[in-house]
Amino acid sequence: MRFCILASGSRGNSVFIESDYARVLVDVGLSARQIELRLRGIGVDPSSIDAIVLTHDHTDHVRGVGVFARRFGVPIYGHPDTLDNITYLLRNQETIQPWHREFFIKDLGFWPFPLPHDSYPTVGYLVEHHQRYLAICTDLGVATEEVKQHLQEANAILLESNHDPEMLLNGPYPWHLKERIASHVGHLSNHNAGELLNAVLHPGVQQVILGHLSEENNTAQLALQTVLEYLPTTVHDQVTVIEQRQVSPVFQL
Ligand SMILES: [Zn+2]
Ligand SMILES: [Zn+2]
Repeated sequence: MRFCILASGSRGNSVFIESDYARVLVDVGLSARQIELRLRGIGVDPSSIDAIVLTHDHTDHVRGVGVFARRFGVPIYGHPDTLDNITYLLRNQETIQPWHREFFIKDLGFWPFPLPHDSYPTVGYLVEHHQRYLAICTDLGVATEEVKQHLQEANAILLESNHDPEMLLNGPYPWHLKERIASHVGHLSNHNAGELLNAVLHPGVQQVILGHLSEENNTAQLALQTVLEYLPTTVHDQVTVIEQRQVSPVFQL
């Protein structure tokens, strides 16, 4: 399996995943045009995408989903309630595929797991190809046991490291927003991400990518530095961070 983070952060999210036979986007949180440009930038024809898979209905994950699905004839997979919540983006021309548990898109397996977040339902995914697992785990207030169990299966992890608590506290956001972000249904701080990784990392983990950074309340350097303080030096080389305006390298798993 190969994957590339086309965008990650509070302003937009999308992950491209490719196997021998399947090409999938997890979330389309930028405009369809931006996603198209970023796909072409890594040599992928947008009309070759087999499916869009959604994590939840927040705008930074679904902004371009309707336009992209119509323009390139791509079916949209999601929890039935998530699909109900995004009908305002649809025009009855799209193919909608509600899932109820794990599902396959050609030779890529998707195992959803619930995340505590202020949109219900929100899920992460374990994505499987040839018994290699990628975990996509952003938009969660706390790491539940179920989250830990799923991350322990993974060989690569995209994990939220959203904010630095000090920057959030002293930053520009209104108080209710600060409370929401720091709550148990908000977003993981750098410290939360470090603790979680410390609890779940095992020798089979090849790559960790820290993402969904807040542009106002975090920096890439601070996120990486804080998370690494929780981890043994032997794994430091495997951890990278992705900023909102960046497209990641294409990772091979
Ligand atoms: Zn988000
Ligand atoms: Zn969200």
